[in-house]
Amino acid sequence: MPDYDIITVGGGLGGASFAKAMAERGARVLVVEREAKFKDRVRGEWLAPWGVAEAHELGVYETLISQCGYHPTGWDTRLAGNSIGLRDLAATTPHAKHLMTFYHPRAQEALVEAAERAGVEVKTGVRVVAVQPGATPSVTLQSNGRSASLTTRLVVGADGRGSMVRKWGGFDSNDDPDQQWLAGILIENTPAPMDYSVAVFNPFASRIALMFPQGDRRARFYFGARSSEPGMSGDREVPRFIEESVKTGMPAEYFEGATSAGPLATFSGADSWVDHPYRNGVALIGDAAAQSDQTWGQGMALTLRDARILRDALLADDDWDAAGHAYAEEHDRQFHDLHTAESWFTGIFMEPGAEADARRAKALPQVAMDQTRIPDTFFSGPGSAPVDETARRRFFGEE
Ligand SMILES: Cc1cc2nc3c(=O)[nH]c(=O)nc-3n(C[C@H](O)[C@H](O)[C@H](O)COP(=O)(O)OP(=O)(O)OC[C@H]3O[C@@H](n4cnc5c(N)ncnc54)[C@H](O)[C@@H]3O)c2cc1C
Repeated sequence: MPDYDIITVGGGLGGASFAKAMAERGARVLVVEREAKFKDRVRGEWLAPWGVAEAHELGVYETLISQCGYHPTGWDTRLAGNSIGLRDLAATTPHAKHLMTFYHPRAQEALVEAAERAGVEVKTGVRVVAVQPGATPSVTLQSNGRSASLTTRLVVGADGRGSMVRKWGGFDSNDDPDQQWLAGILIENTPAPMDYSVAVFNPFASRIALMFPQGDRRARFYFGARSSEPGMSGDREVPRFIEESVKTGMPAEYFEGATSAGPLATFSGADSWVDHPYRNGVALIGDAAAQSDQTWGQGMALTLRDARILRDALLADDDWDAAGHAYAEEHDRQFHDLHTAESWFTGIFMEPGAEADARRAKALPQVAMDQTRIPDTFFSGPGSAPVDETARRRFFGEE
């Protein structure tokens, strides 16, 4: 008998949520997390309404909302500084949920604690250094210079961006070209509104600026631009971050009297994914399976959906190899829709050049008059409506 039913590499949003959900259904689960204490890595802090629905399905919503979650009720989209209307997402999305914001390190901590309470064994400050796929896969851990190997029925790679489990499991990576980046920083003492999020698109300058309130005068701000421009990191570049955000259309007063409450860092928006994230006793979930362009804020929702789909597949079939394949097929369908929608949004809102300008000149006036032309995938989730040629033509103003 293997040492565990499941070993999850990584105790992030994906690993901890999945582990908790499986332990609650009787599985013997080990989570291995290399960090002893979670810190601000400038990760997602805006969970789309369809991700909030997945948090409910997985049984982690109560943990998040009671420990760190916050619900801004409105969504304000601004095109070059002009609002195209304040949207109530709970009233206008199929799951009837508001989006949720939280401080990511606190969410990780809360989920790991909840997983432990559900019976998961958690090893923090321990690094996985190898995974051996197979009928009874094994995981090699390293801590304080000592190594140990443990066997399991299933390894779940939830080790995020730059996943090593992806490599150890023998998966091939697909990588989009590096076209744009997103920089983020947590700000406190901001006079920005706390009851709605602000997304400013400046498509003719290929820029985006975002403000996601977390309550108590704290907000996560992001600024995105094309990869031909230099990214931003470190305290010295905070003034440039603010200046560029304001130039893009973020109100200058949101930064008045405000102070930074964490690091400023920039990340490439290039998608990196594997097709069919299950093979030979190893499943990948979250960013390890598909790291999507954070400009569009879908990573955490997709991570929770992965965890829920894998949980359901394992519970439905005692043959975990077959369940792994069933999960991977469904994951691919979800990611395909997201990836396609992302490429459309990039084509309308971020791509530079005369061809893109012509595309925008056709699409944006129609979108401003009729917002139902914008595919709602990022709020309502993949599968909520077809992401097909008809949807693309409506968005691009071609019909
Ligand atoms: C700048 C930026 C902004 C973003 N904004 C948003 C947003 O607004 N909304 C959104 O939905 N998503 C956003 N995302 C994406 C989101 O952060 C990720 O999709 C999400 O965190 C993925 O969760 P995960 O559990 O797969 O990986 P992670 O959260 O990265 O967790 C992986 C864990 O594995 C651990 N680990 C890694 N290797 C090992 C090892 N060898 N041994 C043991 N442990 C290991 C790590 O320490 C980490 O704790 C953003 C990302 C970035 C970079």
